[in-house]
Amino acid sequence: MDIPRNVKIVIVVLLCAILGLACSADGTSTGPKESTENYSVSPTPTPTPIPTPTSTPVDSKQVAPQFVAGPSGLGDSYFPNLGNGGYDVERYIIEVQWDPEEKWLSGSTVIEAKSTENLSSFNVDFAPMQISEVTVNGVRADFTAEENEVVVIPSEGILSGTDFNARFVYEGSPSLFCWDTNCSLLGGWYNLEEGAFVAGEPSSSLAWHPVNDHPRDRAQFRIEMTLPSNLDFVTNGVFLSKTQNGEVSTWVYETVHPRAPYLTTLAIGEFEEVIAPSVDDLPIRHWIEEGIVRENLAYLDYDKMVSVLTDLFGPYPFDTYGVLVLNHQLGFALETQTLSLFGRDTFEIESIHIHELAHQWFGNHLTVESWSEIWLNEGFATYSEALYYQAIYPEFDIYQYLIAGFGGRESQLLGGIPPGDPGPESLFSASVYYRGALTLHALRLTIGDEAFFTSLREYADQFGGTNVSTDDFIQLVEKISGEALGDFFDRWLLGPVLPEMPS
Ligand SMILES: [Zn+2]
Repeated sequence: MDIPRNVKIVIVVLLCAILGLACSADGTSTGPKESTENYSVSPTPTPTPIPTPTSTPVDSKQVAPQFVAGPSGLGDSYFPNLGNGGYDVERYIIEVQWDPEEKWLSGSTVIEAKSTENLSSFNVDFAPMQISEVTVNGVRADFTAEENEVVVIPSEGILSGTDFNARFVYEGSPSLFCWDTNCSLLGGWYNLEEGAFVAGEPSSSLAWHPVNDHPRDRAQFRIEMTLPSNLDFVTNGVFLSKTQNGEVSTWVYETVHPRAPYLTTLAIGEFEEVIAPSVDDLPIRHWIEEGIVRENLAYLDYDKMVSVLTDLFGPYPFDTYGVLVLNHQLGFALETQTLSLFGRDTFEIESIHIHELAHQWFGNHLTVESWSEIWLNEGFATYSEALYYQAIYPEFDIYQYLIAGFGGRESQLLGGIPPGDPGPESLFSASVYYRGALTLHALRLTIGDEAFFTSLREYADQFGGTNVSTDDFIQLVEKISGEALGDFFDRWLLGPVLPEMPS
């Protein structure tokens, strides 16, 4: 995510004002007024004992497998309720319809998953919408819904290591959520006068489909959206088809490369597809909302951006790229996978395009293990801006760029909040971006260019497609540089003040 300094402060006010929302800060955003009123709880399930699966061999000497309830979170220290334990999602198949008049979403989501424990029940993250039916492997299941958690109780236990699917049929008016007490982390489904879009970090997907909503569970997606034919539908991945049936059309997109759920975006409105020249066989397709002057994108040299970042980090990790530009003042941009999201206030700023493109490696291909590791996303993407400009302008002063980005060496924004553990309230603080980037610059000055750039490429190569932690990066850099760097990273990432830059 990137939030320009001069607009950051007004983001929430702006969004709430523009979108006509009443935002609360208690995690149960009032959002659009319908958001909580449609909350429904399923019929109270009967707490019947889970029978042993019939496939289990009957053997008096063998102990019957024990089944447990899957955890309601993945143990993330910042957002303990995001994600769920006991299974790993392989693919989401989402088939929904959108009624723009009523702001009403209806349809189904199938979660294809593999169990990692013997499950008597499991949770999914899902916002307050009306669920009419849940089936597991085609058999009706009991369920309860509370807050943003749905507990599914299948008719029989699921043995560990088993492929299974769960289908949810639901409808409702999707909305926005606050993820911190001052509502600086706002995400979910944004209703606009003429359309809608989805965005948010650390979470947005649970606002509109059942999901295991943590970066640790990356999955493939197939999304089918049916809506009036006068509207367009855009989402991540590869566009497969648009089929018109009377006054409605169904759009289908598919993502083969697994992605963390928060990296999904979608937009409904009137869009123009702009096909830019491919870069080394990488298709570049932008979607521009009506009212945005497409010529204003022309100055962006994606050929150069992709080439420079590929030289630095290795091959672009996905099969397509482009930007989605909404004709709305968002106050942020977001690195949604293969389709970065911009508003009309951010899309003309070149450095943000570099930033979101760099996130396709650092954030999307290499995804954080826990939200406390956010500097691995934002520090790297911010430093990538500086590396790009240094590649274009060899005399470019990286230190000045990063320091100036936050008002000078004495800026209190650079101290105080340790980028290596900023806390959920400061997930996107200046320190995470700029002190995170300064940490990489200090590392480069400490171990030298050769070891530093070898480390970046090895990091992307070895850990691409997986979840990463700061320890992973430190161990790799220590191995390549031959230096003990524990104290260095402690001071730069966790110390109370910004250390002096090595000379
Ligand atoms: Zn970012």
